[in-house]
This record gives sequence, C-alpha cells and structure tokens, in this order.
Amino acid sequence: MHDNVYTISVIPGDGIGNEVVPQGLRVLDAVSALYGFKLNYRHYDWSCERYKATGKMMPDDGISQLRDSDAVFLGAVGFPGVPDHISLWNLLIPIRREFDQYVNLRPVRLLPGVPSPLANKQAHEIDFWIVRENTEGEYSQVGGRMFAGTEHEFVTQEAIFTRRGTDRILRYAFDLAVRLERNHVTSATKSNGIFHSMPFWDERYAVVAADYPQVRADQYHIDILAARFVMSPERFDVVVGSNLFGDILSDLGPGITGTIAVAPSANINPERKHPSMFEPVHGSAPDIAGQGIANPIGQIWSAAMMLDHLGQADAAACVMRAIEQTLAAPDRRVTKDLGGSASTAELGDDILSRIGKS
Ligand code: ATP
Ligand code: MG
Repeated sequence: MHDNVYTISVIPGDGIGNEVVPQGLRVLDAVSALYGFKLNYRHYDWSCERYKATGKMMPDDGISQLRDSDAVFLGAVGFPGVPDHISLWNLLIPIRREFDQYVNLRPVRLLPGVPSPLANKQAHEIDFWIVRENTEGEYSQVGGRMFAGTEHEFVTQEAIFTRRGTDRILRYAFDLAVRLERNHVTSATKSNGIFHSMPFWDERYAVVAADYPQVRADQYHIDILAARFVMSPERFDVVVGSNLFGDILSDLGPGITGTIAVAPSANINPERKHPSMFEPVHGSAPDIAGQGIANPIGQIWSAAMMLDHLGQADAAACVMRAIEQTLAAPDRRVTKDLGGSASTAELGDDILSRIGKS
C-alpha cells in the first residue's frame, strides 16, 4: 500500500460469484473516487470452471501471486460436478492457511427492510459480531479409524487447542470490543461436557480477560448460547468461539437476521503480514446462477468490511449507509429473495445511486 493506493486480488469464483462481484466492484469504484483513494484490481479466474478445463482450481504458484496484494475480494467457490473437498482444499483453505487468516469475523446485524424470523425485532435491535477461530480446534485431521468394517469398528477425532491459537483469537475479540466501544465479550464454551479442550479455553479466556478490566466478559455453554441467540440476541456485542462453535453460531447469526444473501464475512490476518480475504456468507447458489437475480448485498457489505480493514472507515460507513437507505426506501428495487423483482444489476444501481448522497 502506497499513498492511498491498494492492490486488490479479485476472485469471482463460481455461479453467482460472477454476478455479485461486479456489483461489489462498481460500488468500490464509486466510493474510492469519492474518498480519494485508488484500488488496483488483479482479476483471477480461479474456479471450478477452471478446474474442469485444466485440472487445477488455481495455478501452482497461486498463493504467491496473491501474497503482495492488500486484500482478496472473493465471490463464491464450489459448483456441482466438482466435489466440495476439491474446491475447498485447493483454493479456500490454502489461502486461509498460507495467509494465517485465523479470525473469521461476521457481523450479525438486522438491517431495515429485511424481515427477521424473530417476531418484533426492529432494525438494529440485533447488532453484534461473531469472532470464530479459523485455523485449529475441532476441525483437525488428527484421529483415525480402527477395525473398519467389523463390529469392533471405532473412530477417534482429536481437537487441537494451542495456547497461542487460543490466546490470539480471544485477544482479537477483546480488542474488537474495545475498538467498537462495546466493551462486552461473550465466550462460547462447553466445559461441562468436553473434558480437556473447553476447560482450557475457559482458563485462557479468564487470563486474557484480566488484561481488559474495562470489558465485561461473560460465557455461556454453546447449547444455551444458541437458545439465547434466538431469545435475546440484543444482549450480545462480541461473541467469540472455537472453530466448530463459531461455525455453528455464524450460520445461526444470518439465520436470525433474515437472509444469508445479505450477510458478509472476513477472514482476517490481524497482524497484516498477509492479505485478508472478504467474501459473502452465501455460496455459489447453483439453483439461481446465470439468471441475474442474485442479491448482491452480501458481496457489497463484504466490500465495506474490506474498506474498513484497509483503513478507509469513512468509505466503509458510506457504503453501509447506501445499503441501508436502499433497503429502507419505499420505492426500493430489491431482488426476489427480499420480495422484489429487481435484477442483481438493478439492486446494484439502487445502492450505487445513494453512494455519497448523505
Ligand atoms: P455452500 O456450500 O457454498 O454454502 P450452498 O449451495 O450450500 O453453498 P448457497 O449457495 O449459499 O448454499 O445457497 C443456499 C440457498 O440460498 C440457495 O437456494 C440460493 O439460491 C440462496 N442464495 C444464496 N445466495 C443468494 C443470493 N446472493 N441471492 C439470492 N439467493 C441466494
Ligand atoms: Mg453449503
């Protein structure tokens, strides 16, 4: 990054990724012109399409091609015909691992004009952040299967919690709570049922919390926490969880705020040694791909998170205002998933027309 010039690696990926990413780029172009910084894009066609043609999701030196960019802007990867383990393990997971993107960050915010399945919830009454550990924990490859096919068959599955990995995600959550001036963190645990890892998680939580006396630190077992997401989501500010618990909660979040089509996410390397990656929560949506009816808001909100990460907080806030004004407008043009009949590009137009107007 030099003098307000940023290099962005753009990977639209598969399916509706190709339809929503261009809307994200239009908004980024408009807002960067307005706020006086420049985004240089590098476009990559890495996808299942490419895999079918060449046998590779990305070239062998793919990671090093991305390494010196300031951020990765991703659509969605994965399509019927290519097994998930290929699209995941040959593209997304290498990027997350090589760039040590150990934080998966998701805002959970009820926007105006998006119906929540929870009755009586008004816009902004649900507004918190989920911080998910993204590199270790329950999703480990350590374990095995014995006596396969016999009646004595059994499997073991280990979870790995390092002190370094645990402390750094917890610390990120507390730093975020301070930065957002929310001063409240909730930990997802299950130390009453999981014998080794969760008591360790609680122990490290207490140690890290002690460094942030101004932050209220509470914790709930994952089962009751999930219930509280539904019963009283307004109580949360920053929720931190292990890889598995964070994964579950970060789908429950978009669940209580309406539709996954509007939800964004970020895979962050907080030390900024490597690029972070910004992508919508939704996938490539093969069922509607190619029709031009996908909702681009998840992608555009992800663009706002990227701007925030790049240090362009005012531009990020401007994008969020445009999204919210569009959703709240009586004459809004929204896509089918929100009850409208607008195309992807028309919803993009509507948001774009409000950039910088307030
Ligand atoms: P993945 O495995 O990558 O999560 P998936 O097929 O499980 O993908 P999605 O691709 O997110 O899940 O699609 C789930 C449902 O939500 C589909 O019916 C899809 O059409 C719908 N959907 C997802 N994203 C959007 C969007 N941006 N606009 C409208 N509908 C969407
Ligand atoms: Mg899926």
